[in-house]
Amino acid sequence: MIKTMDAPDDGVFDVVVIGAGAAGLNAALLLGRARRKVAVVDAGEPRNAPAAHMHGFLSRDGSDPTALLELGRAEVARYGVRLIRGRVDQIDHGYQVRMVGGPVLAARRVLVATGLRDELPDIPGVRERWGKDLLHCPYCHAYEVRDQPLAVLGVHPNAVHQALLLRGWSDDVVFFAHTLALTAQDRERLEARGLRIVEGEVKQLVADDDRLRGVELADGRVVPRAAAFLFPRMVARDELLTGLGCARDDGGWVTTDRTGRTSVAGVWAAGNVVDPRAQVVTAAGMGSAAAFAINTDLLDEDVDRAVEQHRAMVAGGGR
Ligand SMILES: Cc1cc2nc3c(=O)[nH]c(=O)nc-3n(C[C@H](O)[C@H](O)[C@H](O)COP(=O)(O)OP(=O)(O)OC[C@H]3O[C@@H](n4cnc5c(N)ncnc54)[C@H](O)[C@@H]3O)c2cc1C
Repeated sequence: MIKTMDAPDDGVFDVVVIGAGAAGLNAALLLGRARRKVAVVDAGEPRNAPAAHMHGFLSRDGSDPTALLELGRAEVARYGVRLIRGRVDQIDHGYQVRMVGGPVLAARRVLVATGLRDELPDIPGVRERWGKDLLHCPYCHAYEVRDQPLAVLGVHPNAVHQALLLRGWSDDVVFFAHTLALTAQDRERLEARGLRIVEGEVKQLVADDDRLRGVELADGRVVPRAAAFLFPRMVARDELLTGLGCARDDGGWVTTDRTGRTSVAGVWAAGNVVDPRAQVVTAAGMGSAAAFAINTDLLDEDVDRAVEQHRAMVAGGGR
């Protein structure tokens, strides 16, 4: 366990990173190695915490997601990055990073890597099974339940695509229509791919000995299933960015350029906070790209300042 440090009282950080998931930590790693003065503030709630295993990250496939972040914290600490446990509730232009009930950190640049929140439907059993045998991303977890009886819960318009995708891992996929109004085209596509559609509202997920047993419908039927998938409503934790006035797209997501630069000068964003599709490896890559760009931006400022001082010195006859 890495001991987090007390908040510093020693001046301005080159960069304050908010969020120590894969995106924030990978950025901090590069910035620390670039010998920048960096603080990372983290509330300790990474999105994939409910899952026991992380997949799809080269050389880390199947590892414990918590252990990955623990390793990451140890790596950044080696380069002098200060790790601060806490929650940021506001960033003032300039930049003053305000922590809840705590100190204010002054920063030259800010990287927001606060991830997103998965809003789950209010169906009994859903919260308890989430990340265990109630899953979301086929690329992350479907291989582990391949060839088993699978369920897809119709709680989101993307559920149909999710079910069609899952068919690649099992030939026994049941689509529970629940409250989703399926179009004739949806039905045709699902049936054409050999998925079974079960009508009726889902009452609850049924589990025994901490393992999913089936999906119970409002009429009392229980359809045995070994694992279920649902597409949650993904809500960006982007209040810090929107509070600064960062531009958003039509879907409400904060926009960035390819390096993670937002529309507000000096403010970058990386990972799920700006891209719901980002997996762990993608989020880490986005953090890395942002770190390059932030360091270059700082360098430009450092050089401009040095040139100004140099010119003043030359004009003053070298005194
Ligand atoms: C159940 C589940 C399983 C998954 N499995 C996989 C998998 O196997 N493979 C894979 O590639 N992806 C998986 N994912 C997706 C994965 O979780 C994300 O890709 C990844 O977490 C994104 O990293 P991030 O750094 O953007 O955000 P996060 O990992 O969510 O980190 C954000 C951090 O910011 C902190 N934070 C938020 N707000 C504040 C604030 N105001 N102040 C301070 N700190 C704050 C949070 O507490 C958190 O620690 C899974 C997702 C879920 C839900």
